[in-house]
Amino acid sequence: NRQLVLAQRPKGTPSKDTLNLIETEVPTPGPGQMLLQTQYLSLDPYMRGRMSDAPSYAAPVDIGGVMVGGTVARVVASQVKGFAEGDWVLSFNGWQDYALSDGMGVTNLGKSPAHPSWALGILGMPGFTAWAGLTQIGAPKAGETIVVAAATGPVGATVGQIGKLLGCRVVGVAGSAEKCAYAVKDLGFDACIDHKADDFAEQLAKASPAGIDVYFENVGGKVLDAVIPLLNANARIPLCGLVSQYNATELPAGPDRMNWLMGQILRKKVKVQGFIIFDDFGHLYPEFAAQMGAWIEAGKIKYREEIIDGLENAPDAFIGLLKGDNFGKRVIRVAQA
Ligand code: NDP
Repeated sequence: NRQLVLAQRPKGTPSKDTLNLIETEVPTPGPGQMLLQTQYLSLDPYMRGRMSDAPSYAAPVDIGGVMVGGTVARVVASQVKGFAEGDWVLSFNGWQDYALSDGMGVTNLGKSPAHPSWALGILGMPGFTAWAGLTQIGAPKAGETIVVAAATGPVGATVGQIGKLLGCRVVGVAGSAEKCAYAVKDLGFDACIDHKADDFAEQLAKASPAGIDVYFENVGGKVLDAVIPLLNANARIPLCGLVSQYNATELPAGPDRMNWLMGQILRKKVKVQGFIIFDDFGHLYPEFAAQMGAWIEAGKIKYREEIIDGLENAPDAFIGLLKGDNFGKRVIRVAQA
């Protein structure tokens, strides 16, 4: 049983010394337990927070502990009611080949789900985050302008596509010309701006001629800086993530602009609401699952995955995710079919 365990807490960007690959015995399930074999491991930005012991909404991984993570697995042997050998499940095995489970928090996906790994993306946590953050906090009306960064990732791509289904103007922000072309041509965004361009702020302003009504905040940093002056009165900001800051070791240099920012929020009467998806909106999951399932069935929402083979490649793939090396939802294929 290969396991990736936290060797040390990273300062700044995680390195090859952050995680250790170790080998342990495959555990044996006892009464009331089942043995799960990981097929796919989801890589998500929140995992950077679990490597750190700074105060957060969730406990950190202990030093020597297996890195946590959402997984799609298959049942190898089961003494748990409702789960049989061969079933596909959505579970929380973490970064390892095998895990024991008592079935708590595990969803049975059946014997042959059409796209098992999608439960880690569009049909799971990131898709739900996009849907709930946009509809419950952003609450866009037809004709309004939505801006979303990390526009080709699982959250941003879904936010933008739902925005189009709701009749909005959608402006994406992404990290390359290729990603921006995909957001416009394949996902149907009205525009997409490369945040690495020198004149990024001017381009964003031009692409948002009627101002911004909903800024779905995924990244912070210079995208947030460029958005604030463009916000309309009564704009809404679902505060979902700040991935540009996850490896930061200190506050950015320069003058303290906190009071300027608060002044903007006050004068424009902006609603900013942070959320932690399952804490705040877990009760809406069935509504999301039904709606998203129908949209996908009808071909109204597209989904892009980037599958990387081998558990041993997960640490590098995760480091790359935080700086935008991924193009679509990054998933590790742990077991070879
Ligand atoms: P992505 O797969 O989109 O990966 C993160 C992306 O962020 C990168 O691909 C990169 O895209 C972009 N990025 C990285 N650094 C910067 C930067 N300095 N400036 C601008 N963009 C940057 O991630 P997800 O879709 O899984 O998650 C998106 C956000 O949602 C994250 O902040 C995550 O933490 C948050 N989240 C929050 C949840 C909640 O409950 N609040 C639940 C799930 C996710 P590019 O190359 O295009 O710049």
